[in-house]
Amino acid sequence: MLVGDDPASHIYVRNKRRACDEVGFANFHIELPAETSQELLLARLAELNADPAVHGILVQLPLPRHIDEQAVLMAVSPAKDADGFHPLNQGALLQGAASLRPCTPRGVMALIDESGCPLKGRRAVVVGRSNIVGKPVALMLLERHATVTVCHSRTADLAAEVAGADVVVAAVGVAKLVQGGWIKPGAVVIDVGMNRDENGRLCGDVDFAAAVERAAWITPVPGGVGPMTIAMLLQNTLDAAWRR
Ligand code: NDP
Repeated sequence: MLVGDDPASHIYVRNKRRACDEVGFANFHIELPAETSQELLLARLAELNADPAVHGILVQLPLPRHIDEQAVLMAVSPAKDADGFHPLNQGALLQGAASLRPCTPRGVMALIDESGCPLKGRRAVVVGRSNIVGKPVALMLLERHATVTVCHSRTADLAAEVAGADVVVAAVGVAKLVQGGWIKPGAVVIDVGMNRDENGRLCGDVDFAAAVERAAWITPVPGGVGPMTIAMLLQNTLDAAWRR
């Protein structure tokens, strides 16, 4: 479901629909004008919740200001919560129970696994503590027995925290905040950030050109975590269908 005319949201939704087409998922694109009332949006969501042909629901964020985002996320059936943002699913993650997990963190874990880097007993540093990326990534790393440090805007010495990490996950939203010289040689670096550099080009939260000299594995921006988020959206939808 897409409400309003945020240009970036339109691009994200187009890419997600394209991915659905590629794997053969039916997708029921619902586009509503920016002035749509919360009541109407919730009514459309209730229809999707009840529709047996629908296994996964995604409400593209951000929503227009007059709509209470939390109320909308709460209204998505937890069993069809393809984004993994419903508090019940987030609570299940906290408890280590099976649930639909947020897509970007799931993609981050898949990338780390693909690198072959074992997590047990390793030091992982997550920069950022948002509910959609930083916190769930930290919980997933903890579940896999990493020793996890979560950094944020009030962390006293970010450089020192990052320097001790075998695995760095940067989810901040500040272009090139994590400097290459901070990276421990041989570390795995996952860059979630999507920013514009001084020339208007897409870049991550990590200074890639310098970090790539030290890291064993590092994800590029664009073309790293972004596509994994879409892949995990499809995976969550498939999981939801199998569960049903
Ligand atoms: P938020 O703005 O919700 O959170 C950012 C976090 O970074 C906060 O916890 C904040 O700390 C912390 N932070 C801000 N400045 C600093 C600093 N100078 N030093 C240390 N920590 C800092 O962002 P999101 O988690 O939603 O997104 C993060 C980035 O990831 C963005 O660039 C976003 O575009 C991108 N993103 C990419 C996705 C993809 O699919 N590729 C999906 C989702 C996000 P505090 O809590 O103290 O304010």
